[in-house]
Amino acid sequence: MTGIYLDNNATTRVDPDVLAEMLPLFTEHFGNPSSMHGFGAAVGGKIEWARKQVQALLGAAHDSEIVFTSGGTESDNTAILSAIEAYPKKKEIVTSVVEHPAILALCDYLEKKRGYTIHRIPVDGKGDLDMDAYRKALSENVAIVSIMWANNETGTIFPIEELATLAKAVGAVFHTDAVQAVGKIPMKLADSAVDMLSLSGHKLHAPKGIGALYVKRGLRFRPMLRGGHQERSRRAGTENAPGIVGLGAAAQLALVHMTDENTRVKALRDRLETALLAAVPNCFVTGNPDHRLPNTCNIAFEYIEGEAILLLLNEAGIAASSGSACTSGSLEPSHVMRAMGVPYTAAHGATRFSLSRDTTEAEIDAVIKVVPGIIDRLRGLSPYWAKDAARPKEFVPVYS
Ligand code: PLP
Repeated sequence: MTGIYLDNNATTRVDPDVLAEMLPLFTEHFGNPSSMHGFGAAVGGKIEWARKQVQALLGAAHDSEIVFTSGGTESDNTAILSAIEAYPKKKEIVTSVVEHPAILALCDYLEKKRGYTIHRIPVDGKGDLDMDAYRKALSENVAIVSIMWANNETGTIFPIEELATLAKAVGAVFHTDAVQAVGKIPMKLADSAVDMLSLSGHKLHAPKGIGALYVKRGLRFRPMLRGGHQERSRRAGTENAPGIVGLGAAAQLALVHMTDENTRVKALRDRLETALLAAVPNCFVTGNPDHRLPNTCNIAFEYIEGEAILLLLNEAGIAASSGSACTSGSLEPSHVMRAMGVPYTAAHGATRFSLSRDTTEAEIDAVIKVVPGIIDRLRGLSPYWAKDAARPKEFVPVYS
């Protein structure tokens, strides 16, 4: 597949160096790490090497705090289910309205089927968390707080250390879904109040289906998967050794490249954003521009459907993503756009461009050339858009 790939928050390309580290695990070092022979021991050694790389990327105190999982979704589910099992008398959970479905759907289930009270903390128009509501929701009845480090749609970063410290003060476990943050934000979990953290390989140039859960030493932990002693009995099942080694290699590369690539990618992102805002009328950046992942740009183009933009971008060989999701035949803006109160007319046209260390200046310049024409063309077809005319205010519904 060729083209310009600006959908790196959905997934990233496996780095060729990562793949090179993984390949011998399929053919040469194929033993089961639990086996009592040299074939097994060779793989076991590689897994422990990978654990150390992830430990280094997170700035964790001990490599034993890293538990390999199948990805972000499993890590998120494991964290919450572990805390509620470890603290069965505490029947409340605190989270935010803009979490990934891996958290939101589990919380919905626990509320409906298991009688938990879920405090879903709202955000403001920039996607920042309502800190007063957060403080009010905290009490000794809270088993776990789960708040994402950075939002996948807008890139908005939450003040994780402050949130974790407040949660610890009432005795709650603090978990963060850092799937979008790991590899982009420097971390030192050894000095942090964060108890658990989820990460996913395929967001940082490792393969899909591998991830990790950081579990601070001394934290009460209950496994979700039982049936084997792997991962110190915290995640049973024969290890995905190639995936684990790939994640280790990707973590090593992320640590090496983080500072330089953050600067380079942010400059490209800003160049794209500045150019599009200047060239296209009636559009704005969603999320907080002051606390944002360096690679993420989400622009709401008013009076057009995001899907239509994506289709034309795709025709032009550009891959991006929209905040909308097609539910029951009607195109609904994403829960993140709705939570931020982005007007209906703009939320529909929210388009996310997410960059990575693979992104080049030439690609960004090509996108800058193409997008204004696409928006113009679509607006020409829109009944809600008439150049130089008053905007149709009656089209803007109010969210309850
Ligand atoms: N959490 C966030 C914030 C994500 O962006 C994603 C993936 O998009 C996930 C969790 C799920 O991760 P995985 O695809 O590894 O299950």
